[in-house]
Amino acid sequence: MEILLLKMGEIVLKGLNRRAFENKLLSSVASCVARYGEFSVESRQSTIYVRAKDHSCDMTGAFEEAGKVFGIAALSIAIQCEQSLDALRREIPRLTRLNRVKTFKAEARRANKSFPLTSPQICAELGQAILEEFPHLKVDVKTPEEIVWAEIRENHAYLHLKASPGAGGLPAGTAGRAVLLLSGGIDSPVAGWRMARRGIELMPVHFYSYPYTSPEAKDKVIKLAELLSVWTGQLTLRVVSFTAIQEQIRKKAPEDVFTLLMRRSMMRISAKIAENTQSGALITGDSLGQVASQTLEAISVADAASPIPVFRPLIGEDKEETVTTSRKIGTYETSILPHEDCCSVFTPRHPKTKPRLEKIEHFESNCELEGLEKTAVYDVECVKIPKQD
Ligand code: ATP
Ligand code: MG
Repeated sequence: MEILLLKMGEIVLKGLNRRAFENKLLSSVASCVARYGEFSVESRQSTIYVRAKDHSCDMTGAFEEAGKVFGIAALSIAIQCEQSLDALRREIPRLTRLNRVKTFKAEARRANKSFPLTSPQICAELGQAILEEFPHLKVDVKTPEEIVWAEIRENHAYLHLKASPGAGGLPAGTAGRAVLLLSGGIDSPVAGWRMARRGIELMPVHFYSYPYTSPEAKDKVIKLAELLSVWTGQLTLRVVSFTAIQEQIRKKAPEDVFTLLMRRSMMRISAKIAENTQSGALITGDSLGQVASQTLEAISVADAASPIPVFRPLIGEDKEETVTTSRKIGTYETSILPHEDCCSVFTPRHPKTKPRLEKIEHFESNCELEGLEKTAVYDVECVKIPKQD
C-alpha cells in the first residue's frame, strides 16, 4: 500500500502554540488532496501521513498538490508494509525510479527499538537485496544519485526514495492578513508568494488607469492572481480606478515627482483597504535601487504615507533571483506579456531619485487628492478568484 509522508517544516520549532499551527496545516493538506479521492490525514511527531481510503485515489495527483502546501518541508510517496525484513525485501521491485539512476545508498531509521535489527544491519541487508533486484546499480555512500530509505516507525515499516522539497514556510493564514499591491510585473506576484509562504493571507489590490491602460492589462493582473491562487487558495482581487488621481497629479505637480506622488497615493488607498479588510500590513515588490522610485530616499517617502508596516520581501534580491522564483511559481510567462502598467504611462523623463519628504508633501497638498482617494476606495471593484489547479 502507498502512502504520502509529508515532513513538517518550521512549525516543529514552535512551542506551546504548535498545536494550532499543526491543525491549520492538517486542514490545508486535507482540503488540497480531497480532489484526488478519499484520504485520511493525521500527524505524528513531525510527519503528516496521508493514506488513501481505497484504490480509486490518485496518489500522484495528491503528491503534486501537497507539494504546493505551505508548511511542508519535504515529501515522498512511501510504500507501507509490515515490520519485517522480508516484507521490506518484497517491496523492492516497486522502486522503479531506481532504473533511472546508476548509484544509490540505503539508509535506515528505527523508531521502534524492538525491531530485531539495528539500522546499519537493515541498511546492509536492504542494500544487498537492491543490488540483486537492480544489478546495474552501484553503491555510492558519499554522493549517491538516489537514496532508499527504510523507516521502522510505530506500527508499520515504510520504504521510500529521496524526498522532494516541499513548498516550505508556514501554514496558510497563520500570520494574519496583508494587502498585496499587485502590478502586472514580475516582482509583485513573487513578493506576494513569499509573504503567503510565511503564513500571510493575501488581499491583492491593483491600480488601473483606463483608458491609459488597456483592458488586457487588467486581464493580465487577473491571470496573475489566478496563478497565485494555485498556492494560496481563493482570493479576492480589488481593482482601484486610478485614472482621476493620476490626471490630477499630472495637472498639479512637477513632472519629476509624479511617480512619488502616485506611489504615496497608492499607499494611502491600500492602507484604507487594509483597514476595511482587517489587514495589518502592505506588501510591495520593490527591490532596492532597481528603479528611481526604489532608492532609499524614495522608499522612505513612500513609507511615510502608510500608517501600517510595508513588507518588501524582495528588497535585497537581484532581478535574476526574482526571475528564478517567478519561473518556479509559474507567474513568469504571464508577467512578461507586453501590457502597459498604469505607472509606465505617467513615468517622468527625469524622476527624482533623492526626494525630500517636506517638498513632496508640499506638492502633494497642492494636488488635493483626499476626495479623489475616498472615491477610489468607495468605488473599488471586487473580482472573485476561485482556487486554480
Ligand atoms: P513589478 O514587477 O511588481 O511591477 P516593478 O519592478 O515594475 O515591480 P514598480 O513599477 O516601480 O516596480 O512598482 C513597485 C511596486 O509598486 C510593485 O512591485 C507593486 O507592488 C507596486 N505597484 C506598482 N504599480 C502598481 C499597480 N498598478 N497596482 C498595484 N501595485 C502597483
Ligand atoms: Mg511594474
